[in-house]
Amino acid sequence: MKALVYTGPESLDYRDAPDPEPGNDPLIRVAHVGICGSDMHAWAGHDERRPAPLILGHEAAGTIVAGPGAGRRVTVNPLVTCGECEACRAGRDNLCPDRQIISMPPREGAFAELLAIPERNLVEIPDGVPTEKAALAEPIACGWHAVRLAADRLNRPVAEARCLVIGGGAIGLGAALVLAMHRAREIHVAEPNAARRAIVAKAGPFATFDPAEEDGPSGVDLVIDAVGFEATRAAASAKVRPGGVIMHIGLGSASGGLDVRRMTLQEITVTGTYTYTAEDFRHTAGAIFRGRLGALDWMEVRPLAEGALAFADARAGRIAAPKILLQP
Ligand SMILES: [Zn+2]
Ligand SMILES: [Zn+2]
Repeated sequence: MKALVYTGPESLDYRDAPDPEPGNDPLIRVAHVGICGSDMHAWAGHDERRPAPLILGHEAAGTIVAGPGAGRRVTVNPLVTCGECEACRAGRDNLCPDRQIISMPPREGAFAELLAIPERNLVEIPDGVPTEKAALAEPIACGWHAVRLAADRLNRPVAEARCLVIGGGAIGLGAALVLAMHRAREIHVAEPNAARRAIVAKAGPFATFDPAEEDGPSGVDLVIDAVGFEATRAAASAKVRPGGVIMHIGLGSASGGLDVRRMTLQEITVTGTYTYTAEDFRHTAGAIFRGRLGALDWMEVRPLAEGALAFADARAGRIAAPKILLQP
């Protein structure tokens, strides 16, 4: 098969790679696969869990071409868990100590023509839903999970909450769309890139602003940090009301920015979130299929063969779309 192989810092090679060996798992012909912030991070050489050479990419949808379910179109939950440990049995499978994600050894990723993954990780796509939209299930499920956990932590219904989402990429926009589905009272989105901000403003009932130019709202019930740098954690700490909730999804840098003094004196709840449970993923896919998350027309599709250029353009800020999908 052809694959886009990460060969070292800032280098990707579109070349022949061995076909996956599916064993008893379905073999999928990938139709669309998104570029994630974590792929960018690995490509830049900043993720020692992803050593070269490696096929990156974990946001895939396509068609089963061999094995169980052949012929079905599916979207892929890339998180493979054991199903037996305490976390898995408690429905918190994203915290499984044996969790694996495709694009991290021992599992190759989806920037390739073919992908093998257990059948239980697949959600069938109904007729009439394009694979471009189904491939957004993975990034949006991260926001779905964060909003679900936030609802447990807020002392008022999400529908009455004033919310601030920091970052208008697919994770932030996805979280904002889930908040909109719950009819949150106010949804503000901070995004510095003007072209992307305009796309976000059209994607749902959002008040967008440029955090470099404007202060934005203050005293909000819920902040979702979909960026995760020191500056955004500092902004989240300042913007949340006493007794409010910060959900931390983005992991741009590992430390700094949280105002522990304010967290303590104002009883602010800060929760880190990682991916989604299998149930969150299925619910997100279902909401996409039923059109509950808007038009989902904010992605840009490029050929997998030109993936190296897409990474370079994304790094240089030349791409306004909140999500780039590659097409093998
Ligand atoms: Zn992702
Ligand atoms: Zn487990």
